Amino acid sequence: MTTISQNNSTDNPYPTLLSPLDLGFTQLSNRVLMGSMHTGLEEERNGFAKLAAFYEERAKGGVGLIVTGGISPNFRGRVAPFGGELSKWWHVKKHRQVTEAVHKYPSKICLQLLHTGRYGFHPFSVSASNIKAPINPFKPKALSERQIWKTINDFAKSSHLAHKAGYDGVEVMGSEGYLINQFSCLRTNQRTDKWGGSIENRMRLAIEIIKAIRQRVGEKFIIIFRLSMLDLVEGGNTWEEVITMAKAVEAAGATIINTGIGWHEARVPTIATSVPRAAFAWVTERMMGEVNIPLVSTNRINTPEVAEEILSSGQSDMVSMARPFLADAEFVNKAAANKADEINTCIGCNQACLDHVFKQQRASCLVNPQACYETELTFAEASNKKHIAVVGAGMAGLAFSVYAAQRGHKIDLFEAGDDIGGQFNMAKKIPGKEEFYETIRYFKKQIELTGVNLHLNSAQTVESLTDQGYDDIVVATGIKPRMPPIEGIDNDIVLNYVDVLKNNAKVGQKVAIIGAGGIGFDVAEFLAEEESLTTQPEQWLKEWGIDKDYQQGGALMPNHEHTKAEREIYLMQRKITKVGAGLGKTTGWIHRSTLKNQGVKMMPGVEYRKITDNGLYIIVNGEEIFINCNNVVICAGQDSDRSLFEQLVDLNQNAHLIGGADVAAELDAKRAIRQGAELAAKI
Ligand code: FAD
Ligand code: NAP
Ligand code: SF4
Repeated sequence: MTTISQNNSTDNPYPTLLSPLDLGFTQLSNRVLMGSMHTGLEEERNGFAKLAAFYEERAKGGVGLIVTGGISPNFRGRVAPFGGELSKWWHVKKHRQVTEAVHKYPSKICLQLLHTGRYGFHPFSVSASNIKAPINPFKPKALSERQIWKTINDFAKSSHLAHKAGYDGVEVMGSEGYLINQFSCLRTNQRTDKWGGSIENRMRLAIEIIKAIRQRVGEKFIIIFRLSMLDLVEGGNTWEEVITMAKAVEAAGATIINTGIGWHEARVPTIATSVPRAAFAWVTERMMGEVNIPLVSTNRINTPEVAEEILSSGQSDMVSMARPFLADAEFVNKAAANKADEINTCIGCNQACLDHVFKQQRASCLVNPQACYETELTFAEASNKKHIAVVGAGMAGLAFSVYAAQRGHKIDLFEAGDDIGGQFNMAKKIPGKEEFYETIRYFKKQIELTGVNLHLNSAQTVESLTDQGYDDIVVATGIKPRMPPIEGIDNDIVLNYVDVLKNNAKVGQKVAIIGAGGIGFDVAEFLAEEESLTTQPEQWLKEWGIDKDYQQGGALMPNHEHTKAEREIYLMQRKITKVGAGLGKTTGWIHRSTLKNQGVKMMPGVEYRKITDNGLYIIVNGEEIFINCNNVVICAGQDSDRSLFEQLVDLNQNAHLIGGADVAAELDAKRAIRQGAELAAKI
């Protein structure tokens, strides 16, 4: 039974969030659960020392309860061929590095036990039935009854090993479409034995696993069960089935129920930046009162204000935040010190975290390149403190400036415009990218805290820079939009993305967009969506067909229709590959679906012939087509401008080049920030 003891101190802005949670046999220092994240360090050679440093930073930062990345209880349950597994005694030693590091602080840590079932990316995958997942080429084998009992025993054994390794508990992964979820839903469970059919049979695997773990590890060990409360796929569970399962999970001996939202194969975004903040807190709220153990709400909770609102309004007993702890290890301590404006906010981009994990690369964070590199990217005080000029306050210049200032260098940061942020000032205007504003806010605060001398409206030249006696000059002047040599490119109907997004150019009802990279997609969304749905959660849920009334299993609306854009928009590229194929691994499909739903026409294999007063002539498959439109918007990539840097080098200045000014091709903010940080670490 939960005991809520609120910390009502007047100078504590988040009294519920920061209040302890009594679990009976143990206490959590606050209501914050750091959600499970696979980092890639789990499989790296000597990765556990780095993993320990990663978790130690978060424990030091004040988080109440950490859940590790998913580790399989056996060979068949691994994510991929070399995926992490805790099944042998000799696995225990490396985990001890993690638990000992975390336990230097009051935080608790649970190991997540994840059996991927048919999501296992290897030929040994298993499931309830032998039905292939739409997102995995490998077809699973149906588990025999004997194998099911062996799997249950493996979960118990793994929990026992986790106990011995010093973990305070385990989280049993029962959602997101993994093995336990595959058993619990008719979508993937077509068995006719006692493990299939009724919900009592389908949830038997989950319940037997919890019972076996409890029996093996005793009463004083946290068991979190991650329950899929919203499957978001056809053939998912009904709300009544979800409640039945929650009650049985409690009765079997779980300590906490965490919320799972959406299977990986669901075609509804659940964590991307365009998902409204706390968009799914209502699901956990529905469960409140059905069970007596603490419930955790989750997904797109990224500020202490949002977390406090969820808890104080009784939507859950704890909040789970995962990526916000990649973005800022000190999240909780900063909130407790009433310094929320100093938090480096997760912008939900997935670019350095999930996109990396899906490409088998080490995770990090776009806004915090130190994440998962705690022992490799450090900012120790400089022995030789320098006076450095930085030209350009885009992401590259900002990152360099604040990290270098932290090291004790004296920084003069010059920006030609009237605000910092560079291209992020355009990005934040895109519907669904409002979070990008937070990174600009963060850097503004850091400039203040680190004492960077910011000079706005100060375009620099070689002359203005060379007579000041700087030790080093960092050129971070960004890019120039590319204007391709198409006949008629000077016509009045032609605009580029800067005209549209920065200079508020008037755009007509029929538009052709040349270039379908990240910016072409963003401009199409800007022109298609009059008002951002990200700030209107109810509308957003409706648009993606999520049924809050839960009229059928999986909570998807039957016969759902999308809202079409009022503008007629064509999005074109020369490549013959699928339009948007180069977008982020975990977010590209969302951008493609959004534009498709809005009726935007996506055209690959386009040859541009000429632009006239009335539109654009193109050739597709050898056939000439005329696109009658009011405007042609150019989003055809960017070029770097290295001239300032080259002139400085010619004058024997210690000049450095970072961000788009260095290499424009495939430049994104992830590279710009990391490059700035890496130079700051060594200058
Ligand atoms: P910039 O942001 O271009 O900054 C350069 C700065 O230098 C500017 O502020 C400029 O005014 C200043 N400057 C130039 N010359 C001088 C001078 N002589 N003196 C003083 N100041 C000068 N990236 C992502 O990773 N994810 C995204 O989702 C994403 N979305 C985007 C959406 C849009 C609409 C746009 C336009 C870009 C997006 N980007 C995104 C790209 C990302 O913003 C850039 O890659 C990144 O910000 C580049 O940073 P930078 O510092 O190199 O250059
Ligand atoms: P980009 O991704 O390189 O796309 C440029 C587009 O222009 C491509 O579609 C390209 O396709 C086309 N193009 C290139 N040269 C052309 C030419 N000479 N004539 C006509 N078309 C041409 O660049 P971007 O869209 O400008 O984005 C810049 C960076 O910002 C990207 O690298 C991206 O990482 C980042 N960004 C990321 C996101 C995100 O969601 N992650 C969003 C926005 C921006 P064809 O060559 O096939 O025609
Ligand atoms: Fe958040 Fe983007 Fe960082 Fe991932 S990379 S933690 S989504 S800011």
